[in-house]
Amino acid sequence: MCGIVGYIGDKEVLPILIDGLKRLEYRGYDSAGVAILGEDLKVVKTQGRIKALEERLKDEDLKGNLGVGHTRWATHGAPNNVNAHPHYSESKNIVVVHNGIIENYLELKKMLVKEGHDFRSETDTEVIAYLIEEFYEGDLLEAVKKAYEMLEGSYAIAVMSKDQKDCFVVVRKDSPLIVGLGKGENFIASDIPAILTYTREIIILENGDIVKITKDDVSVWDANGNSVKRPVQQVQWNVEDAKKGGFKHFMLKEIFDEPTVIKEAMRGRIKNGSFEIPELEQISVDYLKNIRQIFFVACGTAYHAGVVGKYLAEKYLKLPVQVEVASEFRYRDPMIDGRTLLFVISQSGETTDTLAALRLGKKKGAKTIGIVNVVGSSVAREVDNVVYVHAGPEIAVASTKAYVAQVEVVALVLLYFAKKLGLLSVENEKALVSEFFALPEKAQAILDRSNEIAEFASTTKTIEETFYIGRNLDYALSLEGALKLKEISYVHAEGYPAGELKHGPLALVTPQSLIIAIDTYAPLRKKTLSNIKEVKARQGRVLAIATKGYSEIEEVADKTFYVPQTIDDLSPVISVIPLQLIAYYIAESRGLDIDKPRNLAKSVTVE
Ligand code: GLU
Repeated sequence: MCGIVGYIGDKEVLPILIDGLKRLEYRGYDSAGVAILGEDLKVVKTQGRIKALEERLKDEDLKGNLGVGHTRWATHGAPNNVNAHPHYSESKNIVVVHNGIIENYLELKKMLVKEGHDFRSETDTEVIAYLIEEFYEGDLLEAVKKAYEMLEGSYAIAVMSKDQKDCFVVVRKDSPLIVGLGKGENFIASDIPAILTYTREIIILENGDIVKITKDDVSVWDANGNSVKRPVQQVQWNVEDAKKGGFKHFMLKEIFDEPTVIKEAMRGRIKNGSFEIPELEQISVDYLKNIRQIFFVACGTAYHAGVVGKYLAEKYLKLPVQVEVASEFRYRDPMIDGRTLLFVISQSGETTDTLAALRLGKKKGAKTIGIVNVVGSSVAREVDNVVYVHAGPEIAVASTKAYVAQVEVVALVLLYFAKKLGLLSVENEKALVSEFFALPEKAQAILDRSNEIAEFASTTKTIEETFYIGRNLDYALSLEGALKLKEISYVHAEGYPAGELKHGPLALVTPQSLIIAIDTYAPLRKKTLSNIKEVKARQGRVLAIATKGYSEIEEVADKTFYVPQTIDDLSPVISVIPLQLIAYYIAESRGLDIDKPRNLAKSVTVE
């Protein structure tokens, strides 16, 4: 999820690693560390900032020409000194840094523990180091290749061995990693800015590549073990562009990350065609049967993920469900008892109101489940069970990819409970599972047509206010669409149930109004269409977001953007993308500071 940098050559390696790590700081992280192979193979690491690492390094004498550095964004195990990377193998002869997630680490860890190995950390990463050591017979590359065959998940890793002072070995699978080429020296990094001051010649590794790097050579093997040559590219970007992966803003980059985010959020949660949430395994069927009501409590965008949860929980769990804004919930006297299941949703896990709501719920006896992005955060620590969304660090203040992951994880959890309770038929589960797997591609198909949204946005300069309308899950989406626009474009926006428009707000509709009508929910499609006609009769401009194939809507709306067909209940995961894009492009056409909108903060730790 976070940063890797590595160097081999004739120069002193430590300053290069520290410089590279600092250049990756913008991505957010919770711990940092370096491993250097000189006389010995030494690791220095710490929780906290790179400054803290530099302090610790003052007491050490780390010299060498080969080394790796890491900034960690915890996914497995709290952010502390022990869990920070690099990780040693058991004998300390091998060192690994890792970005990403090893999905089957528990199985591997159990196997290794059974064989008598003792682990030091809670991370999934340490298992990689131990496994490589198991296979090591004097050739690091061969050992890594063997370990690679056993590792499932997403990972970029860099490995060094005390016995091989002339190389390191890296693997790239589903997590970014590049090689930078120099003269008599080579670099690796998870992202271009880390090494841009040293070289502009890079190799972007492909999925499954295993690479042996010496100071004069870079040898690549593909996922099938064939020796391959990857093209060398000249980077034209400057550092600022490179940080954003070439996108103009972090927000746009994060929206374009969503196909990957969708994949990561379901990783390990669908096994053998069935919903499985390992983190919630210990919640028994008896307990689930005893629940009488469900609450979703959160703030802002996370609250809107809860609104989706309400519709899904009612439908699949057949229970009364309430969704509440945390700042209200915490000061009420909600009817909660031991038969209440309380979901709290938070990207940062530090949202003050959400924490207070969680504490109130716990005091009243509810069982609590956290849907959280930041590992080891306060919400994650205080809930009875936490399910991480694994969206990776989100830098733009306006949340996009975290929302997508939250909605997806909420759906996965509810479907898992429905399955446990016998409320999900085998056919239904099968259909849903195959649709989950199709979502990343469908999200990508939407992003591939982002220019349509950008073009439409460029025609909205005179718009003074907007209404987002929809029914059922499309209503949940309309709330989030409106919030996104408010946050970054400062245009007044309201999300409204489509059927409620005529009970008041219709009076506000003029030719200067933009109505974004979300009409993907098949059972109520025709009803929303009638509401669009009401708006058109008052000369409002309409952008419709509709399911592909529903061409009737084109005759009514000014512009229709089609999203791929999916199961209605999963539609929010992808149908939110055009809403995020429209907010982005409207703000962009107004020349605003999109990543840091006025008056707003990323993690709201005040009341
Ligand atoms: N899963 C690893 C951990 O939790 C790597 C996290 C990262 O990508 O920074 O330590």
